[in-house]
Amino acid sequence: MDALTKEERENLVRMLHERKGRMREEIRAGLARMRSEGHEAHLSGTADAGDEALASLMLDVANAEVARDAAELQDILAAEIRLAAGSYGVCIDCGTEIPYARLAAYPTAKRCLACQQVREATRAPARRR
Ligand SMILES: [Zn+2]
Repeated sequence: MDALTKEERENLVRMLHERKGRMREEIRAGLARMRSEGHEAHLSGTADAGDEALASLMLDVANAEVARDAAELQDILAAEIRLAAGSYGVCIDCGTEIPYARLAAYPTAKRCLACQQVREATRAPARRR
C-alpha cells in the first residue's frame, strides 16, 4: 500500500514518462555525437598529438554523459517496475512511505531521505542525491 493520492501518483507517472523520453533522446544524441567525434579523430590523420588528445578527451566526456543518462534511464525503468508491482514510493531499506514532496523532486527515489542520508554517509564517493 502507498499513501500517494491517485492524482499524485498520476503526476509522478507522467514525470517519469517525460523524463524517460528525454533520456532516450539524450542517449541517442550522445551516441551520434560520439560517432561523429570518433570519425573526426580518425580522419585527422595529419592532426598533431594535442588534437588527438583533445578528440579523445571529448569522446571520454561524451561517453561519461551517455553513461550517466543510461544510468538514469535504468533508474526510471526500475521505478516503473516498482509502480507496476505496487512497491513504488516505499523505502527499500526501512519500508516507510516516501513523502510525495521527495518523490516529486526525485521521482526515481528508492529510499526515504533518512535512509538515503545514511547510505550516502557510509558510501564513498557520495552520490549527488
Ligand atoms: Zn527508509
